[in-house]
Amino acid sequence: MTRWLVLIAAVAVPLVMTDSVSAQAKRPNILVIVGDDMGYADVGFHGCRDIPTPHLDALAKSGVRFTNGYVTGPYCSPTRAGLLTGRYQQRFGHEFNPGGGPNAGLPLSETTIADRLKAAGYATGLVGKWHLGGAEKFHPQRRGFDEFFGFLGGAHSYFPEKRGGRTILRGTEPADEAEYLTDAFGREAVAFIERHKAKPFFLYLAFNAVHTPMHATDERLKRFASIADEQRRTYAAMMAAMDENIGRVLGKLRTEKLEENTLIAFISDNGGPTMKGVTINGSINTPLRGSKRTTLEGGIRVPFVLSWKGMLPTGKAFESPVIQLDLLPTALAAAGIETKPHAKLDGVNLLPFLTGKVTSQPHETLLWRFGQQMAIRHGNWKLVRYDTAADGAKPGLTKYKLYNLADDLGESHDLAADKPDKVKELEALWKKWDAELAKPLWGG
Ligand code: CA
Repeated sequence: MTRWLVLIAAVAVPLVMTDSVSAQAKRPNILVIVGDDMGYADVGFHGCRDIPTPHLDALAKSGVRFTNGYVTGPYCSPTRAGLLTGRYQQRFGHEFNPGGGPNAGLPLSETTIADRLKAAGYATGLVGKWHLGGAEKFHPQRRGFDEFFGFLGGAHSYFPEKRGGRTILRGTEPADEAEYLTDAFGREAVAFIERHKAKPFFLYLAFNAVHTPMHATDERLKRFASIADEQRRTYAAMMAAMDENIGRVLGKLRTEKLEENTLIAFISDNGGPTMKGVTINGSINTPLRGSKRTTLEGGIRVPFVLSWKGMLPTGKAFESPVIQLDLLPTALAAAGIETKPHAKLDGVNLLPFLTGKVTSQPHETLLWRFGQQMAIRHGNWKLVRYDTAADGAKPGLTKYKLYNLADDLGESHDLAADKPDKVKELEALWKKWDAELAKPLWGG
């Protein structure tokens, strides 16, 4: 019997040398960078001309850019809740931005990526915007982060003299911060890497750029003097600040020779706010239609990059749909951390899809619910009900619209009347998922 066990073990070990196990010895660092309210069109790797983003472009070139990269909602806090848990946030009632109430925040029932990586021995840090609850029990350092530098709410002034009563925190204490906020976040991210470069670290670098308020430094505004529209000029200067600071962080990884041992992800938390009814920032979502706060592509499809030198392909465009929920299982697999089946994750480990070990698609179906708005993408078909304000009308709700994204990326040819069976099929899939969701814990 013992002999058999030895034999089985000898045979089984090579068979279980999967991506996650083979990566375990290296235990890569995990760096997740989030931009806020970026337009889909506003990065060089999507063809942007008036705002150079050389560092983001270099990051995209160093790895995989996702042409069908999504987030689970059109608003800041819900997509961050999905990002940090790997679960559709509507499963636990985090459907809308939390207000300031004592119970509005990422439910304590949920385990974050920081909890999981910390438990595995990672040094964990958040630099930037939290937006997952302002009460003490929701503080980042109670949700898996060893260190925190940033702010707890959804938006923040960039200049100290304009901050009013709101504060930047280091841990739980107010920080006397004098720098332009995006530069301060870049500085703190570099310092975090310096402090923890000797051991595996997880850094969540969540910029509030390019979210309002529209504050930019004079030096950067001068660089964009040729942009006539003042709001777009300020947006460009804010984007340049974020890109520069991403460059500082990537430069630090290079200097410390950590590039080959760091998995880097970049996303925007939702699409650019371009329509009436949201606080616009000068962003552009073309060729997508719609805006932040809609379930049209412009609200939920975002710039999305994954890079890991030596482990993932370079300069690759991955066309199959992926979603920010995938970053947690991807990071855990890279770190060699098993996720238990009871974790009930909705995301999938993207590594085998990107290396070509698996040739199917990561997701056949992706789903959205944002109050009365909804969407489902099934293959290239999309069924959507969205805010009529996106069409220039008063806020309300459209009927079901059916689009084929393969040849109608801009969602302009509604096929619902022509294909009622397809509408029914997608509606049934969506309703099945909808029935699994919780009621929102707070209003939208
Ligand atoms: Ca946002």
